Amino acid sequence: MKRVVIVGSGITGLTTALALKDRASEIPEGLEIVVLEAGDRVGGNIATDRVDGFTVEMGPNGYLDNVPETLALISRLGLDEEVQQADEAAEKRFLFRNGKLHFLPADPIGFLRCGVLSVRGRIRVMFEPFARSRPEGVDETVFDFAARRIGPEAASVLVDAMVSGVFAGNVNELSLQSTFPKMAAMEADHGGLVKAMVAKMVARRRAKKRGETIVAGGPAGPAGRLTSFRNGLDTLPMRLAEELGNTVQLNEVVVGLKRKHTTGWTVTTGKGATLDADAVVLTQPSPMTAPLLESAQSDLAAAVARIPTAGLAVVALAYRLEDIGGAPDGFGFLVPRSEGTRILGCLWDSSIFPGRAPADMALMRVMIGGAHDAEAVALGEDELLDIVRREIDETMGLTADPYWTRIYRYPLGIGQYLVGHQDLLDHIHGHLEDLGGLWLAGSSYYGVSMNACIEKAGEQAGEILDHLNARSDSPDC
Ligand SMILES: Cc1cc2nc3c(=O)[nH]c(=O)nc-3n(C[C@H](O)[C@H](O)[C@H](O)COP(=O)(O)OP(=O)(O)OC[C@H]3O[C@@H](n4cnc5c(N)ncnc54)[C@H](O)[C@@H]3O)c2cc1C
Repeated sequence: MKRVVIVGSGITGLTTALALKDRASEIPEGLEIVVLEAGDRVGGNIATDRVDGFTVEMGPNGYLDNVPETLALISRLGLDEEVQQADEAAEKRFLFRNGKLHFLPADPIGFLRCGVLSVRGRIRVMFEPFARSRPEGVDETVFDFAARRIGPEAASVLVDAMVSGVFAGNVNELSLQSTFPKMAAMEADHGGLVKAMVAKMVARRRAKKRGETIVAGGPAGPAGRLTSFRNGLDTLPMRLAEELGNTVQLNEVVVGLKRKHTTGWTVTTGKGATLDADAVVLTQPSPMTAPLLESAQSDLAAAVARIPTAGLAVVALAYRLEDIGGAPDGFGFLVPRSEGTRILGCLWDSSIFPGRAPADMALMRVMIGGAHDAEAVALGEDELLDIVRREIDETMGLTADPYWTRIYRYPLGIGQYLVGHQDLLDHIHGHLEDLGGLWLAGSSYYGVSMNACIEKAGEQAGEILDHLNARSDSPDC
């Protein structure tokens, strides 16, 4: 019997476990999968709180429904009927600039008319197709890429705000290639973003003419719509855990990892138990993974420690509709760092996903912290609420007392793929190949979104099965 130990039951750990379980018959000797989770619940960052008839996401809001692996996982788990797409009203997005909220039209003409950028800034955006191409062999920052293609104003307003909203990151430090690989590919394959969008439209038209089904993830596929589940996002990890049964062990902190003399690994838990494994998958954020690797390979541990994460806090605010003049209309807003607020943005949750609040209430969530403001996540409750309420007033003009508030903290928050991230990954992979039987997985390495974690988990499960089978075939096993 072969054994795979997976450390962590976030979306990465659970999806890897299910992919292995579904393909266990490929291992002739049989396969035992053990998921060890430090906490008392599954899901990691994905967690849903239920308060007074509200459904409150503590972390992620949802996923885009354009990645085939995620859609297949949801179907595999029988969850298609549970899916809830964001309301169409949520397409209305706003950005706070120069002291007011600006509506951001999705269509190019509307965008050019709206006043979020100066006239000069908007004209510069129109010159995107003529931007100079990427300097050869340079791992550009997101800011440098955006400034080169759409101009410095749009980069420091629009792109900065987007990077804060998605990665809680610093636009001047993150690598375009590692953070937005699709955008890098659009430029590399088509010579620019507008040209790539036109090429996609043409591909879609041609596919339609040929009567082909336009699939998510294909060249003509849709951009994706924010999606969750009617009862909250934790529906996904809970259902995964149900499917995995006693494979998942809660309250089991992995404290040690040693390479065995022959092959394989020994995992030690905080309760003093040891577990031999033919393969180990570490899915926790890089700052937690690095110390575990110290005894296996100190250079590998040092490389993993160089991948930082940005902590952030999520502050949920419930309001009576009568106190705030009705439900906010749209998705919410982001704030570029140049505006000087500490909040990164605010999601109008009950407008995005109707049903998240009782009929006479509204639910909003504010994000604060990130790479620019690492201290915010550890601020005391009163101070955090003071800042959030002051800045909600400044941005939305909302002075009413909330009906209730909740704070959810993510000290290790979101992985930051700085310039040089791919070189670091190559270096890490070199060590992993030498060691054999060890996988580093999850949002610190190959993409922070739930979609990226799910996609990569399936791929890594395939690699693990190949490894186990190669070892079975080798004469000295
Ligand atoms: C506030 C916030 C909002 C986000 N919003 C979105 C969003 O809207 N859409 C989206 O796609 N993504 C979003 N993300 C990103 C997404 O949530 C994560 O990238 C993804 O959930 C990571 O999953 P994971 O399994 O790789 O890691 P994690 O969720 O971090 O899971 C790791 C697990 O390992 C366990 N663990 C740690 N150490 C040990 C140990 N020693 N022994 C045993 N177990 C251990 C932890 O308890 C945890 O359960 C958001 C992230 C945050 C923080």
